Amino acid sequence: MSVRVRFAPSPTGFVHIGSLRTALYNYLLAKKHGGQYILRIEDTDQSRYVEGAIENLLESMEWAGVHHDEGITIENGILKEEGDYGPYVQSDRLAIYQEYIQKLLVKGDAYHCFCSKERLDEVREKQKTSGLTAKYDGHCRNLTEDEIQQKIEAGETYVIRLKLPENRDIAFNDAIRGKVVVNTDEVDDQVLIKSDGFPTYHFAVVVDDYLMKITHVIRGEEWLPSTPKHAYLYEVIGWKAPEFVHLPNILNTEKKKLSKRQGDVSVEDFKKKGYLPEALVNYIALIGWSPEENQEVFSMKELEEKFSLDRVSKSGGVFDVNKLNWMNNHY
Ligand code: GLU
Ligand code: ZN
Repeated sequence: MSVRVRFAPSPTGFVHIGSLRTALYNYLLAKKHGGQYILRIEDTDQSRYVEGAIENLLESMEWAGVHHDEGITIENGILKEEGDYGPYVQSDRLAIYQEYIQKLLVKGDAYHCFCSKERLDEVREKQKTSGLTAKYDGHCRNLTEDEIQQKIEAGETYVIRLKLPENRDIAFNDAIRGKVVVNTDEVDDQVLIKSDGFPTYHFAVVVDDYLMKITHVIRGEEWLPSTPKHAYLYEVIGWKAPEFVHLPNILNTEKKKLSKRQGDVSVEDFKKKGYLPEALVNYIALIGWSPEENQEVFSMKELEEKFSLDRVSKSGGVFDVNKLNWMNNHY
């Protein structure tokens, strides 16, 4: 099996242990199959950027022993040379997203939308009160080329949206959930390029996963509802989609989503408290993945050999700090 995977965090704060697990499963799959694991910083939402987050990410991954294979794109988003160049950064790649959005515009699969925030809020409010799915109403779908030019010349700001066909099923396969089918009537005409010219996550992720030749997209299940939009984008651009693998959330001992309020959740927290990186990685690997044998203590090398996607659990794994402490005492 050929494997080329990526970990694609947004620099919005300290690395959560859920993200460490996502990174780790990607890394282990790559190592197991002699593939590559790359790191990509998804920083297209500049308003969420947190100073120092990239540095913390690199330090946390280094500490945990999850090393990425290659980095910076050299020309036009196409990897020219392998080596340890540090991560790919989406904000360095704006010209690439522009190139692909132009193609979608020309083919009529994307369109300019000049709606103001006030208008969008109004539409959403009306839909809500009448019990409809809140989504863009398609107001700007059929503007003529002249109308668009006039508005642009008049200095009106705009976004570029995906033009979804009406009432059509989009299907994709998820390695954990199986076949997922969603009707386009349930999906919004997603903004692909924002008014500041930056792509949204949804557009950048598809363009990059394709250009970076990603074979398996392994990420948290919170991205599952976004995947139909991605699957449709692959289809209209005419690209083969990667395998999708959406990992169930890590839960706390009360079976709720693990969050900061309950205590330590970032890699930084555990690092500061003096936990051994091997213990944290070993414990995190076992939340949501089970090896074939009864063994509990693994080295990274052993995890690399034994990891497989078909033993990733379909339900959320539980993080229990007592178990982590036990693990920490066994190294
Ligand atoms: N940038 C997204 C995040 O912060 C990545 C989602 C993905 O892996 O596609 O989680
Ligand atoms: Zn509009």
